[in-house]
Amino acid sequence: MERVFNFSAGPSMLPEEVLARAAAEMLCYEDSGMSVMEMSHRSPVYEKIITDAEKLLREVMQIPDYYKVLFLQGGASTQFAAVPLNLLSGSGRADYILSGQFSTKAYQEAQKYGDIVAVASSKDKNFSYVPKTERSSFRKDADYVHICFNNTIYGTKFPYIPDTGDIPLVADMSSCILSEPIDVRKFGLIYAGAQKNMSAAGLTIVIVREDLIGNARGDTPAMLDYKIMADNGSMYNTPPCWCIYIAKLVYEWIISLGGLEEMKKRNEKKAKLLYDYLDSQDYYIAPVEKESRSMMNVTFVTGNAELDKKFASEASAAGLKNLKGHRSVGGMRASIYNAMPQAGVEKLVEFMKEFAKNNPKT
Ligand SMILES: *Cc1c(COP(=O)(O)O)cnc(C)c1O
Repeated sequence: MERVFNFSAGPSMLPEEVLARAAAEMLCYEDSGMSVMEMSHRSPVYEKIITDAEKLLREVMQIPDYYKVLFLQGGASTQFAAVPLNLLSGSGRADYILSGQFSTKAYQEAQKYGDIVAVASSKDKNFSYVPKTERSSFRKDADYVHICFNNTIYGTKFPYIPDTGDIPLVADMSSCILSEPIDVRKFGLIYAGAQKNMSAAGLTIVIVREDLIGNARGDTPAMLDYKIMADNGSMYNTPPCWCIYIAKLVYEWIISLGGLEEMKKRNEKKAKLLYDYLDSQDYYIAPVEKESRSMMNVTFVTGNAELDKKFASEASAAGLKNLKGHRSVGGMRASIYNAMPQAGVEKLVEFMKEFAKNNPKT
């Protein structure tokens, strides 16, 4: 069977070049005589894979050397607890911006560990926009401010980086990491589950400023303590070896294309094609405020639940998979991460036009 265009929000498409390379190296990685899945994480051959992976990620994202890069497990959701456990070391206070379901979950989890306040929220309009904040929105003595930079479910993205002054800004970037250049120095900590735009499920990346680690609560599990993980080069225990290897291939793929500037160009072109079409007609409705639109997750509805259902099932039959929206928004969601080719979005827009023509609203 031919490969399809997979619009899944995550796990999601990986670049074909990466899959082909992993397939070619599956039985025997370099001259090790074994697959990456089978080798000891302490072997020199694997040491080189994880060291190269970190070096390449630092190069791709231009991560300053006063940040630690950690390769962890447990998904982005584990960071909802790890962040407060490690960072609530001063006043015990943290401020959260609620821009969707994941930031709300992060906020709820953090409440177990300190004095946590939701300083802004867009729940009033079903998270169809990103709330504005100013420096005065945050408590002066907060240990950190938490945001979810790209809201996977609703299809929104922060159009700005909140000005938190000296307060470290923590960002969940699960669904937008590596989609465009970002200035890492504006953040105290960035975390991301890898299965959206970086690798297979099972790997979580944490990029954290060195001065923020080493003050975890006494009852922090060792596995969640950034200092322990950093001191052990992400190898306190067995790391997600295979996912780190795939991530390394993805970093090499990004570099081979021209880095994050080129990724951004490609992603903007794909998103523009879809949003320009959405703006040019009135059959489909794009619920997100224009200023807050995500470049990675594009949501739209017909306004009729039956038609939405028909759309997703006919699109699937046409090789456009996983377009059904999240239940909290309904309608459709096209996740167009780095690995989605331009041709996939072109085919989607053609399908949308055909579908609108063939299914007039009465
Ligand atoms: C998918 C996602 C999560 C949850 O990730 P897990 O790795 O499944 O825990 C959290 N935040 C964002 C922004 C996501 O897209």
